[in-house]
Amino acid sequence: MQLKGRVNKKCPRCGNECLLTQVECDECGLVFSKIEKATNKEGKRRLLRGEKDLVIYVKKCPIDVKKWKLILITIFAGLFGTHYFYVGRWKWGLSILLYFFAVLFMGVVFNAYFLTIWEGTFFSVFGPLTGIYTIIWLNDIRKVCFNRFKIPVSIISLSEEEEYQKQKEDKKKQKEKLKELKKKKSEFKKISD
Ligand SMILES: [Zn+2]
Repeated sequence: MQLKGRVNKKCPRCGNECLLTQVECDECGLVFSKIEKATNKEGKRRLLRGEKDLVIYVKKCPIDVKKWKLILITIFAGLFGTHYFYVGRWKWGLSILLYFFAVLFMGVVFNAYFLTIWEGTFFSVFGPLTGIYTIIWLNDIRKVCFNRFKIPVSIISLSEEEEYQKQKEDKKKQKEKLKELKKKKSEFKKISD
C-alpha cells in the first residue's frame, strides 16, 4: 500500500510507506513502538546466529547504543572501521579495515619503490584510493551525527525476555550467595582467632 504525503514514515523492516499516526505497519505487521525496546545487543546476537530475518536496521540509536560514544568512535577510530564493528556490522568493518591496510601498504611499504620506478602512476593510483577512503570516513561521521547510520537491532520475544530476566535474577542470587559465604567465612575466622 503506497501512501504519499508529508506525514509519512518508512517501515524500518520492509520499507513500506506508512502514515505517521499508524501504530502498525500494514505490510509486515511490525508494531512501531516495539522498535523503541529493540536492542543492538540482541541484533548482534541474532546476526551471529544467522537469523537475518529477525534483524531490523534502524537509523536512530537504539536504547543500548549511546550516540556520543558512536560519534567519538567514528571520529577517532573510524578509519579502521571500528564504528561498524561496534554496532555489529562486521562485514563492513572488515572491508574498511582491509581498505585501510591496502592504503597503508601502498603508502608505506611500496612508497619508496614506486616513487623511483613510476612516479606518475603511483600517484594516479594512490591519490584516488586515499581520496575515496577519506570520503567514506567523512561521510560516515556525517551519517552518525545526523542519524543516518544504520544500526542492526532486534526485538526480544516475550519468552526470551522472561529467560533474560531469569538469567539476571539467577546471577543476582549467585552473587548474594557468594556474599553470604564470604561473610560466614570472615565470621568463622573471627571466632577461631
Ligand atoms: Zn513493514
